[in-house]
Amino acid sequence: MKPIQHLIDGATAPSTSGNTTAVFNPATGDQSGELVLASVEEVDAAVASAQKAFNSWSQTSIATRTKLMFNFRNLVAEHAEEIAQLLTAEHGKVLSDSAGEIARGIENIEYACSIADDLRGAYNASASTGVDVHTVRQPLGVVTGITPFNFPVMVPLWMIPNAVAAGNTFVLKPSERDPSAPLRMAELFQEAGFPPGVLNVVQGDKVAVDRLLEHPDVKAASFVGSTPIAKYVQERATAHGKRVQALGGAKNHMIVLPDANLDLAADAAVSAAYGSAGERCMAISVVAAVGDIAEPLLAAIKERMEKLTIGDGTDPLSEMGPLITKESRDRVASYIGSAVDQGADVVVDGREHSFDGDGYFIGVSLIDKVTTDMDCYRDEIFGPVLSVVRCASYQEGVDLIKNNPWGNGAAIFTQNGGAARKFQEDADAGMVGINVPVPVPVGYHSFGGWKDSLFGDTTMYGPEGVRFYTKAKVITTRWPDPATSKVDLGFPTNQ
Ligand code: NAD
Repeated sequence: MKPIQHLIDGATAPSTSGNTTAVFNPATGDQSGELVLASVEEVDAAVASAQKAFNSWSQTSIATRTKLMFNFRNLVAEHAEEIAQLLTAEHGKVLSDSAGEIARGIENIEYACSIADDLRGAYNASASTGVDVHTVRQPLGVVTGITPFNFPVMVPLWMIPNAVAAGNTFVLKPSERDPSAPLRMAELFQEAGFPPGVLNVVQGDKVAVDRLLEHPDVKAASFVGSTPIAKYVQERATAHGKRVQALGGAKNHMIVLPDANLDLAADAAVSAAYGSAGERCMAISVVAAVGDIAEPLLAAIKERMEKLTIGDGTDPLSEMGPLITKESRDRVASYIGSAVDQGADVVVDGREHSFDGDGYFIGVSLIDKVTTDMDCYRDEIFGPVLSVVRCASYQEGVDLIKNNPWGNGAAIFTQNGGAARKFQEDADAGMVGINVPVPVPVGYHSFGGWKDSLFGDTTMYGPEGVRFYTKAKVITTRWPDPATSKVDLGFPTNQ
């Protein structure tokens, strides 16, 4: 059984805690690895290594930091296929989705290569007579990232490049479901030439997370995961005086107006609802079909669903893989059952799709005539289930989004520029798509939702990410007029 260890102080660090957990291949149901789970002492060792490295790393020139970040970027790009294989083997998503995730992660490394821009600060000459004022941004110290299973490479890359390029050192706690791909990425980080301790990886569960959130040398915590844990992380970390950005779950709506391009909207709904088996925080889980478009839209979505190939993510023909765990698969199935019981119209029932073997597969589902009191609407399902709520008007669609507790992404499909423009204003969500179902911002903007999708006040990566990982210092300077110097400096006197 493959042992999966920590990476502390630049080297593989076997665990002494005696605690482990199994890692599975979701496509077969077979155990593929044995993951160590950190004790408090092991977390402390990782933080101590990061703290030691911070002293010199924070003094390292921007030029050197940038050069190493370039090396890292190139190594990840060169090893993309190998990382994608590791990722698919433990997550289950199809290889093209793994490759896409790595490419989006690389964007964040590239952004960090231009860290000099974000650290430039500001300067005002002659704020008062003979007085200048300037602002610099300095790193915080040791920072931590606690990441979810669904993007085991991309989400750590939302955090690490900007944090490290800004002069911080980092302790990553990846998801215990698919730890091998982020661990490989951390090895490449070492290979890129970063000093030991700049990035440490501790494998673990709640024990490790709790210790990171209370450790006095950890100055900031970035978290991405489910809403209850995001809320917990924010409360616990702020209680220990840390900066926190904690991104939570989602329930993203896509409004389709009667004038929408039907093919575009149906393609978008299918890829956004079922891509990566719906295990994406920016997945579309609700289509708000306005007026007469509902019937033809449902037919167009159903037609496309029937053509989807579901299978092992390593098979190039597969377009969708299994869910992450057996429990997850059973949970998704239970929502389809409850939708039937609660009076919805299950147009396509993913439970009816049969699969060979013991993988955690389920077919894709489409549920029509969903109302806001049903479980399949109220909860984040995090699986390949698309609910359709029929709306009489644009305003009904907008109100659905407004009244939903989450506010990660929201999209509209229309050919009317005025309607699209109004939606940008009205949408009660942090990221909005106009004829784009999954509006994940590029690396030079920042990512984050509203309401129960983000706790804390700074979104992730891009300029906001750098702001999160740095603190401002304002320096006010006065120098007397050199002509008044007691030593003759060669300046003409005022007389
Ligand atoms: P999760 O909340 O179960 O786990 C996330 C991390 O928290 C993991 O590292 C895990 O080890 C740790 N953790 C879990 N339980 C804990 C506890 N009781 N105490 C301390 N730490 C704990 O999330 P997940 O299942 O890995 O990921 C899926 C969720 O993440 C979904 O809700 C999805 O919407 C969300 N997500 C959100 C975004 C976003 O940007 N908003 C992005 C990706 C995923």
